[in-house]
Amino acid sequence: MRKELGINTYQDLINLFPNRYIDRTRFYRTSELQSSNSEVQLIGKITSFKEIVQKRGKRLVATFKDDTGFIELVWFRGHNWIHEQLKTHTDYVVFGKVNLFNGVFSMPHPDIELKSTFDKGLSKAIQPIYPSTEKLSNRGVSNRVICKVMEQLFLQLNGRFEESLSLEILQHQKLISKSEALLNIHFPNNQKILSLSQFRLKFEELFYIQLQLILKNIIHKSKIKGYRFETVGDYFNTFYKNHLPFELTNAQKRVLKEIRIDMGSNAQMNRLLQGDVGSGKTIVALMSMFIAIDNNFQSTLMAPTEILAFQHYNGLKPFCDLIGVKISLLTGSSKIADRRVIHEQLESGELQIIVGTHALLEDKVKFKNLGLAIIDEQHRFGVAQRSKLWKKNNSPPHILVMTATPIPRTLAMSVYGDLDISVIDELPAGRKQIKTVHRYDTNRLKVIGFIRQEIAKGRQIYIVYPLINESETLDFKDLMDGYEGIVRDFPMPNYQVSMVHGQMKPADKEFEMQRFVKGETHIMVATTVIEVGVNVPNASVMIIESAERFGLSQLHQLRGRVGRGSEQSYCILMTSHKLGENSKTRMETMVHSSDGFEIAEVDLKLRGPGDMMGTQQSGVLELKIANIVKDKDILSLARHWAKKTLDVDPKLSDPKHRPIAQTYVKMGKYKNIWNYIS
Ligand code: ADP
Ligand code: MG
Repeated sequence: MRKELGINTYQDLINLFPNRYIDRTRFYRTSELQSSNSEVQLIGKITSFKEIVQKRGKRLVATFKDDTGFIELVWFRGHNWIHEQLKTHTDYVVFGKVNLFNGVFSMPHPDIELKSTFDKGLSKAIQPIYPSTEKLSNRGVSNRVICKVMEQLFLQLNGRFEESLSLEILQHQKLISKSEALLNIHFPNNQKILSLSQFRLKFEELFYIQLQLILKNIIHKSKIKGYRFETVGDYFNTFYKNHLPFELTNAQKRVLKEIRIDMGSNAQMNRLLQGDVGSGKTIVALMSMFIAIDNNFQSTLMAPTEILAFQHYNGLKPFCDLIGVKISLLTGSSKIADRRVIHEQLESGELQIIVGTHALLEDKVKFKNLGLAIIDEQHRFGVAQRSKLWKKNNSPPHILVMTATPIPRTLAMSVYGDLDISVIDELPAGRKQIKTVHRYDTNRLKVIGFIRQEIAKGRQIYIVYPLINESETLDFKDLMDGYEGIVRDFPMPNYQVSMVHGQMKPADKEFEMQRFVKGETHIMVATTVIEVGVNVPNASVMIIESAERFGLSQLHQLRGRVGRGSEQSYCILMTSHKLGENSKTRMETMVHSSDGFEIAEVDLKLRGPGDMMGTQQSGVLELKIANIVKDKDILSLARHWAKKTLDVDPKLSDPKHRPIAQTYVKMGKYKNIWNYIS
């Protein structure tokens, strides 16, 4: 039991919460059984046993009768034990899943209990089902055994547990006490008390996670001194007054102000910048870097791919040139001679902005005084990489991480709860909605016709293939077949087609990319390497092949590559006719919504938090009882109370917060938040 469920102490056991409950007030008769029944409870007697030997192994079958008929109970293992323990012609309560085979119902590995003991048990009405593992039930540790042990434990401990929330919270939120909640999560008498117990324990779990995150942020701010950027000087102001190519949106202004205030305070900034595709995060990044430079500090902008780094560099360089800021690009494919120059100029401080990829993290890259590090498309970088940037200085630079696509609020709160969060929730004015449609492969001819029309109007087209894993040969064949098909449909010299994929050399990729950027090619056939950040305003059609194989945020991100110019843009999702429910929902969501925040919410529901954030951050998301998708209201409430508590009492030294302080201290000793209880 220990290893499989990570249970070492009785606290662990008490905090092993059921993952569901079944109503055991209902008893079926065997004559009432239907093949649609999933789990049923019956009362009856075993009349006989027989052992059936087959090639695949032995199975023990018992005939179980009540007044109306019979079923078969089946065991594939533990035969000796069952023979010894179970008596014939004695009343038993059995519970389990039933299967119908050849007109006979059978129940494999039933939960079985003497009717007489069943009547005396604690849990009669609503029965908890505990998370168990294959191994455990193989060794005979059934749900019933866990229930029994739990019962013993509660009797021994008298069912009393130390309260872990403050009176203020309990009263305000009308939460039941800890002891009551624990008793009723394991032995609920009715649905109402069960709901109250679940609410209380979910709240508690989320409250302590939030408390921990917010405290981390507070401690960080008090301990880690940041560089103080006191002035907003010439670089920023000249750019703002004379060279800003458009009016900033209100959201951009607000976010810039938040960043400026952070960097002007004594603490090191640790901020997450959220914004939909095309909301204009880059200009915010650039202007933040100008503030750093105004204060005689260097800045860096780090991107997840070479293409994106290159694009950022190309986009930012003209602005930097206008106001005399020195900027360079460093990636894995930078030439050795260039690198040497860049290394030197970074160390001397001559270079003010360095744009690049992971190559920036190498030990050889040293700064004179790095003041601000911006990480674009955060989800591709791990926390470890963030901290590597830190170590480039005596004092850590201010850090701004920008997301590629929005993350749902609840997820951001849980995963990035220790960062401050800024949101650009407004797109620049005058953006045309991208028209999105879903087409089946059988409509391909029409789609080709549409592409011709658009090209005739002077537009450019993206066609993206799912090469999720760039080394998959099958995917690669799809891409090549697709490319050849396109070249046949759009022959030279009237049409020019580019292709970019991950197996190409960086220089070749870049060459093809540039042909498309310059408008020399009409169609860009590509894999998801173009997913992030590529900006070609004249491209107005995004065709996504096998769209059912992409996740929602990826589809949204891909769609964001068009709609960047003044023309009406289109996104065409191509799929086969065979679509699962989940894929259908994704296509429908894409067709009806262009709001990245809304799409992210659907994505979270479909995929679940762990999958959405990748394994790196999933640790935070392994909750015992709460679910950040279903319990987002409780999460907001918990965060509210955690904030409120720490606002008035950041050290948790007020006697009225003692239960919280004590619990928090215990929590620190354990990795798992639930180990601290009682
Ligand atoms: P993202 O947030 O996806 O990184 P970008 O920063 O690439 O978006 O901006 C998308 C496009 O919108 C760019 O071409 C940029 O120049 C333009 N843009 C940004 N802010 C504004 C604005 N306030 N008004 C008009 N266009 C803007
Ligand atoms: Mg971007």
